Amino acid sequence: MSNETLQAVKGMNDILPDEAELWLWFEEVIRDWLASYGYRNIRMPLVEPTALFKRAIGEVTDIVEKEMYSFEDRLNGDQLTLRPEGTASCVRAVLQHNLLYNAPQRLYYSGQMYRHERPQKGRYRQFHQVGVEALGFDGPDVDAEQILMCARLWKKLGLTDVTLQLNTLGDSACRQRHRAKLITYFEQHSESLDAEATRRLHSNPLRILDSKNPAMQALIEAAPKLMDELNEEALSHFAALQAILRQHDVAFEINPRLVRGLDYYNRTVFEWVTTRLGAQGTICAGGRYDGLIEQIGGKPAPAMGFAMGVERLLVLLQEGGMALPRSKVDVYVVHQGELASQLASKVAEQLRDSGLRVLLHCGGGSFKSQMKKADSSGARVALVIGDDEARANEVSVKPMQGGEQVKVSVDELTVTINKFFKQE
Ligand code: ATP
Ligand code: MG
Repeated sequence: MSNETLQAVKGMNDILPDEAELWLWFEEVIRDWLASYGYRNIRMPLVEPTALFKRAIGEVTDIVEKEMYSFEDRLNGDQLTLRPEGTASCVRAVLQHNLLYNAPQRLYYSGQMYRHERPQKGRYRQFHQVGVEALGFDGPDVDAEQILMCARLWKKLGLTDVTLQLNTLGDSACRQRHRAKLITYFEQHSESLDAEATRRLHSNPLRILDSKNPAMQALIEAAPKLMDELNEEALSHFAALQAILRQHDVAFEINPRLVRGLDYYNRTVFEWVTTRLGAQGTICAGGRYDGLIEQIGGKPAPAMGFAMGVERLLVLLQEGGMALPRSKVDVYVVHQGELASQLASKVAEQLRDSGLRVLLHCGGGSFKSQMKKADSSGARVALVIGDDEARANEVSVKPMQGGEQVKVSVDELTVTINKFFKQE
């Protein structure tokens, strides 16, 4: 057996304690932000039946064709997939538990997603999303709400250079008409299509518009526009959404080429984009998916949602100069001798009872080396306990930023320490 060090799976990251502080802080901001709009948390499994994603996302999409971690459960033959996104699972859970029975739902989830992509900065095989879904709402008010939510979050996070791209995909009748015209158009120019576009020509011609191949850009530019096929209802929905955004001074750019990589969207689609992350510039994306609930087997109901890429957002924050928040220890307890150690662990528990963060030195060592650890822990106060102190039921309190060391009886310790922190 080889004993070389094992590594994490490629494209899947460890988040080490220093960075995890930033994640914890971010998660707290997110929780407060979502609560302020009345969205409630839902938690789904990381593994779902493969059929769910095939049906929801679409067979001819990048995700289903080449990015899913799918496998057979050898013990019972089930076909399973690590979730590549959360909307399908969320809708499945809502239907399975009948949550739309008598009220619409505003829901959110966060956690790991899995896609077998080529790892690079801002693109990983395990990554995290915060997903937000409003089910049972036909908009455009809720469409606007979700976009305003995002704008508020960027402001809260101090992100200034993210811009909003907006488009409408119309309803299924408009899309059918557009699809037919696209096929005719691309068939007429079949000699200019690359292999991928040729393959998708009849299965998913809309996705050709999403191609990043420079050689096809002129062809795509001149292709029939969905905008020209939109019906009255879809147009007025889009106009009303824009009006609300203008009322709130949320700037946007209409991007007719924004089609999104999943099949289930209709009407409103949007992306928040930054130029600071290269090709991985989309930090948040979403849209309306009025047909999905029925497609997954529910009674038809409209819905709208979006997901943010947490890694991309955190990189943006760090590149913007945000310092890593570091949670501090209040007290470091230094001790030497058997009696002293007993007292040390007793006072540490006593101080924790009053809500303080206490690091009890473990592993022995001289007073000097323990004080060094106290210093680098960031604690504001060290308690120093030797056997002499222990016999007198006292501890020495040493402010780490300078100041006099004082002896305090164990009974008065909690009061003294809390007073000290209040004065600071
Ligand atoms: P992209 O065009 O960058 O591949 P996407 O359209 O596949 O994005 P969505 O499915 O809309 O992405 O997911 C929402 C968000 O999740 C994206 O805007 C992005 O911020 C983040 N995201 C998607 N895939 C990855 C990944 N492989 N690694 C890190 N973040 C990702
Ligand atoms: Mg993608």
